[in-house]
Amino acid sequence: MPRKVFIIPAVIVFILVVALVHANQNTDALQSRTRFLMDTYCTIKIPGGTEVLDVIDTAFDRMAEVQRTFDSLDPESPIHAFNDENVTITNPEIVALIKTALEVGDESGGAFDITVFPLVNLWGFFGDSPAVPDREKIDELLNAVDYRHLSIKAGTLVKDDARVKIDLGGIAKGYAIREAVAVLKKAGITSALIDAGGEIYALGTNKGKPWKIGIRDPRGEGTVGVLELTDCTVATSGDYERYFEKDGKRYHHILDPKTGYSAEGITSVTVVTDDPAVADAWSTALFVLGKEKGRELMERNKFLKVLMITQDGEFISSNM
Ligand code: ADP
Ligand code: MG
Repeated sequence: MPRKVFIIPAVIVFILVVALVHANQNTDALQSRTRFLMDTYCTIKIPGGTEVLDVIDTAFDRMAEVQRTFDSLDPESPIHAFNDENVTITNPEIVALIKTALEVGDESGGAFDITVFPLVNLWGFFGDSPAVPDREKIDELLNAVDYRHLSIKAGTLVKDDARVKIDLGGIAKGYAIREAVAVLKKAGITSALIDAGGEIYALGTNKGKPWKIGIRDPRGEGTVGVLELTDCTVATSGDYERYFEKDGKRYHHILDPKTGYSAEGITSVTVVTDDPAVADAWSTALFVLGKEKGRELMERNKFLKVLMITQDGEFISSNM
């Protein structure tokens, strides 16, 4: 019976095809893509089949759009025109985020201040070779650092001092994550992990279990703890992300708007809350505020879960 000879390979091929199709639709799989955005590697993971990869790309495209809109250094950005030519900002998306930034500015007593731009620039933190500037230059620029020079009038951002320049680097990444989450939800995705280097959003669950996220040890390789999160964000600001050392002292990109120098006392602040933009701004704000004032504010703002690690290795946590 020569026909059997053909039937057996045909059955094997059929089984193989079924297995391959099944593997492709395997709901246990975690689809993942990474793109370099907002100065860091961003990864989005979604449980499910490969059909979700297109949605991931759409979410990244939206993040890239946010990055362009809020890039103070991009000559095309309304923020650049506001900074250099005093052109008021009417773009509702930008004005809305600035409103949030000003609220955190107010609530943090000016620790979060988007008018630090000239100082961040002076220190060279936008470039590759930051250095300690002259104190006179810092003091001169400090005169135009105060978010109270900004106001929103009938949906338009204005400043009362032409020297004032803004930088949304302390909040824009969180906002980009918020927008990526919106894209995923709109596409019907109910579970995902969005990791944008220092800030992570956990959407839904990972196959029924909360997403597990490690908190990095600011002075070591490992983690200092693991958070289990569902439908919230975790943002960490640390002095290890962008820094240099000079005469045994560490200088990093989170500046104290009162002194013009890198904020001292804290090595990392982790904030957990619903809104990624708010988490981003508060992690920066609490970093500047430090141990005592930070403790006061975390207790007043119950919607923030906070873990603060000091330079002495002390852990301060609230509402966790
Ligand atoms: P990262 O974006 O690297 O995770 P942060 O969210 O803490 O770090 O934000 C740091 C960025 O925010 C800096 O690069 C700078 O552009 C800006 N920034 C620095 N100090 C302040 C401050 N006191 N208030 C608001 N923005 C700040
Ligand atoms: Mg931040």
